[in-house]
Amino acid sequence: MDSYNHILLAVDCYGQHASVADKARDLADKCQAKLSLIYVVDSLPIIDAGYAVDIPYNLDVTAELMAGAKHRLDALAERLAVDEQNRWLQTGSPKLEIIKVAEQNNVDLIVVGSHGRHGLALLLGSTANGVLHHASCDVLAVRLPND
Ligand code: AMP
Repeated sequence: MDSYNHILLAVDCYGQHASVADKARDLADKCQAKLSLIYVVDSLPIIDAGYAVDIPYNLDVTAELMAGAKHRLDALAERLAVDEQNRWLQTGSPKLEIIKVAEQNNVDLIVVGSHGRHGLALLLGSTANGVLHHASCDVLAVRLPND
């Protein structure tokens, strides 16, 4: 088997199973590969149902989400010994951002959990499925214990 040089672990900071992260770290060690982490904060426009206009404090909500996400991403990165320059906190569509960061950084393996917060029932529409079908590099979907 060809070895990997750069492994990108996509983490759902709010629903990730630790075993996925541990497997990515282990694989990176065995391949002597660089390990990077990515978490994408979904860009969800908040609409005032009554007036159908953007709520002005939407930006504050996003800033709060980003701060919380950064805290969680950093904690996981510390545990996995991932350098700061290899931590990616993005906003947008998780699938598209994961693929973009992978392509721009010569990632040759993306690691995802087989499902996250959205559960097995929605697997077909999931981030894991989107990455699997659209990435140009290898993708490892780590099966979670209760799959
Ligand atoms: P899901 O698509 O939510 O069922 O999650 C499947 C896997 O996709 C998770 O275990 C993560 O590896 C990855 N993933 C889901 N959401 C995100 C996200 N917002 N940012 C980065 N990776 C994610």
